[in-house]
Amino acid sequence: MKKEDIKRHLHTYSVYGKRCTTINHAFASAIAPSDDYDEKKINEALEFLGQNPYEDLKCVFCNDEAETWDHLVGLVKNGELRRFGHQIGNLVSCCKKCMNLSYHSRFLNSPK
Ligand SMILES: [Zn+2]
Repeated sequence: MKKEDIKRHLHTYSVYGKRCTTINHAFASAIAPSDDYDEKKINEALEFLGQNPYEDLKCVFCNDEAETWDHLVGLVKNGELRRFGHQIGNLVSCCKKCMNLSYHSRFLNSPK
C-alpha cells in the first residue's frame, strides 16, 4: 500500500452507502474533523513512525504489509465524540489483522 491511499480516508464519511456500521459511528464519521491531503505532512508523519514514505507502507503495529488505514484514537468513546478525526496525525497504516484487534492488543503485539 502506498501513502497516496490515505486520500480515501481524509474526509468525512457519508452516512449512506458505506459498510455496515452503527448509526452512532456513521454520525460521528460524518461530523469528525478531517485534513486535506498534504504530502509534506504525510511524509513527516510516516518518517516519525519509522516508515519510508516512498516505499510500500508497513503495519505500524506488527510490521507486516499495510493494507489499510485506521484511526489511532477512535472517533467515539463512551458515547462521546472525541477531538480526533480523519486527520493525518490520527491515521496509521496497518494490516487488517491488527485493525481488528483491540487497542491494547495492538501494542502488546507490536515489535520491540
Ligand atoms: Zn499488523
